Amino acid sequence: MKLFEYEAKQILRYYGATTPRGVVVAQGEDPLTKIREAGLAGRLVVKAQVLVAGRGKAGGVKLAPSPEEAAEIATRMLGSKIKGVTVRKVLIEEAVEHDREWFASITVDRASRDFVLLLSTEGGVDIEEVARERPEAIIKYHIPPERGLLPYKARELGKEIGLRGRALNSFASTLVAMYRAFVDHYADLVESNPFTVVKDRVVLLDARMIIDDSAIRLGLVKAEQDPAETGELSEWEVRARRLGLNFVELDGYVGIVGNGAGLTMATMDLVKHFGGEPANFLDIGGGASAEVMKKALSILMEYPKARSIFINIFGGITRCDEVAKGVVQALREVGSGKPVVIRLVGTNEEEGRAILEGAGIKAFTDPAEAAKEAIRLGGGE
Ligand code: GDP
Ligand code: MN
Repeated sequence: MKLFEYEAKQILRYYGATTPRGVVVAQGEDPLTKIREAGLAGRLVVKAQVLVAGRGKAGGVKLAPSPEEAAEIATRMLGSKIKGVTVRKVLIEEAVEHDREWFASITVDRASRDFVLLLSTEGGVDIEEVARERPEAIIKYHIPPERGLLPYKARELGKEIGLRGRALNSFASTLVAMYRAFVDHYADLVESNPFTVVKDRVVLLDARMIIDDSAIRLGLVKAEQDPAETGELSEWEVRARRLGLNFVELDGYVGIVGNGAGLTMATMDLVKHFGGEPANFLDIGGGASAEVMKKALSILMEYPKARSIFINIFGGITRCDEVAKGVVQALREVGSGKPVVIRLVGTNEEEGRAILEGAGIKAFTDPAEAAKEAIRLGGGE
């Protein structure tokens, strides 16, 4: 999960890093009141809290000469769209006067099975561009996971990017803070682009973190993000995600529901094999309770791309009669506006089929037959 800048900064401050003083303002709140309550004065920076790349260039970072103007900018920014994503929160921070900008990031290197730290004196700009055009401007250090990032090493690296004295001490503790935040949150990325030095102290002007979703369960992060925030999902994927469903939008016309990712993918392959086109991927998981089935069918009944619905269930732990009851109940509740084809095998399949047939739903045992029927009913060959 990608964290917002203000969330990443909150975590990094907890580990001892310094960020500019600031306040988060959400839609519906009055920016000027929040700015005054936070005691912010002078030149401020207004930063849209969106998870899209290149936010600054897309107009998501604006400098304001006064709190009043910052409030105006914030009001305009809240509710507007940056690269298609609605801005629901802004971070308003004191504008830090600075002349130099550095880059630091820690990521997982799966190939070398360790963590890799990148540092550059050319912060603030697109780091990929620096890597391409001036690779010598990037310092790379593989952190041995068994030892971690040791302070002496952090100091050595700081010297390499030109830091000395107290600024170097501040840099070393900041880098160790970033590393600890990274490890504690099972992060895939901790990045600051840029950070700067003000009065011998390292200040993170920007911060990004991508953490393992399981870290949320550890209670280290509260973040419960709306799926729409990433800007990476389609409208239907967002709707499904909000229902807790694992749904991927595709371009065909046969709606797919399977229990288990492998079976669901095999179901899509089968539809393809017989000349049809899957409209989606939707895995309702091994449990496949009546409740989840109801959610799945309610989405697919509304999802305009699906002209027929193909449910492919293997009853293992979940018994087929349970699944059948769920399907019947779901269709009764969400309506049966589209033709539904079910293939059902496994534990208690006879009972399951009897329940479905009692409700007038034809159940198949042969997946190929079921796939062909779903394609036909969807208007394919
Ligand atoms: P990004 O485009 O999402 O990476 O946004 P950043 O937070 O990195 O901001 C873009 C640029 O705005 C930075 O490279 C800085 O030059 C500038 N910037 C960000 N925060 C501050 C700040 O507090 N003070 C000043 N003067 N500039 C800032
Ligand atoms: Mn940045």
